Amino acid sequence: MNLSPNYTSYFRPEIDAIDGYTPGEQPQTPGLIKLNTNENPYPPSPRITALLKSFDTDRLRLYPDPCCQRLRKTIAEIYGCQSDNVLIGNGSDDLLTIIFRSFTDKTRPMACLEPTYSLYPVLADIQGTPCIRIPLTESFALPEDILKVAEPANLLIICRPNAPTGNLFSLDKITKICADFKGIVLIDEAYADFAANNCLELTKKFNHVIVCRTLSKSYSLAGLRLGFAFAHKTIIEGMTKVKDSYNVDMLTQSIAIAALEDQEFFQQNTARVRASRQQLSTALQKLEFDVIPSEANFIFASPPDRNGEKLFDILRANRILVRYFPGPATGAYVRITIGSESQIDCLLDVIKAY
Ligand SMILES: *Cc1c(COP(=O)(O)O)cnc(C)c1O
Repeated sequence: MNLSPNYTSYFRPEIDAIDGYTPGEQPQTPGLIKLNTNENPYPPSPRITALLKSFDTDRLRLYPDPCCQRLRKTIAEIYGCQSDNVLIGNGSDDLLTIIFRSFTDKTRPMACLEPTYSLYPVLADIQGTPCIRIPLTESFALPEDILKVAEPANLLIICRPNAPTGNLFSLDKITKICADFKGIVLIDEAYADFAANNCLELTKKFNHVIVCRTLSKSYSLAGLRLGFAFAHKTIIEGMTKVKDSYNVDMLTQSIAIAALEDQEFFQQNTARVRASRQQLSTALQKLEFDVIPSEANFIFASPPDRNGEKLFDILRANRILVRYFPGPATGAYVRITIGSESQIDCLLDVIKAY
């Protein structure tokens, strides 16, 4: 049905003003090598297959546990905290939405770095909260003036390892920022399972620090939609008031427990990705790429001619999909997800031919 010619928008002006978030492409073309959205190339724990085969579908008549108590207990035991320090989300994107709704509004700005995960500014726009962008240095390190620039914000988001650059900001600097910043500090650790260290301890040291994790990348479960946040119990209690009552379905809660309990499988999976990351970094450096040191499951690399877009196009023409971010700080690079060993071989063959 066409809109009548005298249609005036029903939307809040904030919504009409934005483009919305553009997720990475999920192409339907068969045979494409998909290295564009940081999914894990390996299957998830085989325990999930067993669980699904024996799942009693009669249980689906009932609502799921709104508080995810068994799952939170499992997470608390693995990560060394209490259940009341954990909040579960329908993916960590859901947790981000809960955090924006909890801590930001027109008069309570948020701050994030630049470049970083591009969903943060979109969530700010939807919430109608000002977004303070803080540029990283030329080598994608934290700028000296971060605390001064972020000062008016009630929420400071730091993605560590950062996306799309993959580098790990110094733990000392992050600790200092947490000690001095007056609002909430959110550390998005979507990629921390691939990194040398993480900031979980900071949620025990400071009651205004939140750490977010996800099963999407390191547990090979992007299709499941499960994320979890760690924070002081007062913060978790407040955010619980904001979340949808049944934000995590029953099957997801059960599958997440099975995946988390299989720590041996998880360790092998992440170790394999880290080994491939090392191989790909070394191979690209030999080809005179500028490779940002990565602690994530992707590599941000710039070809010798510093033309990220051209490399993206050439790979695409050879059925390899990576991610390109236009702009002065990022346009010289492409972001390559660490694929399987054979996918990486194909990628290197195409790059060498070019
Ligand atoms: C992938 C990603 C997320 C989202 O994780 P989901 O649990 O799949 O919603 C959040 N933050 C960053 C930085 C990510 O890369």
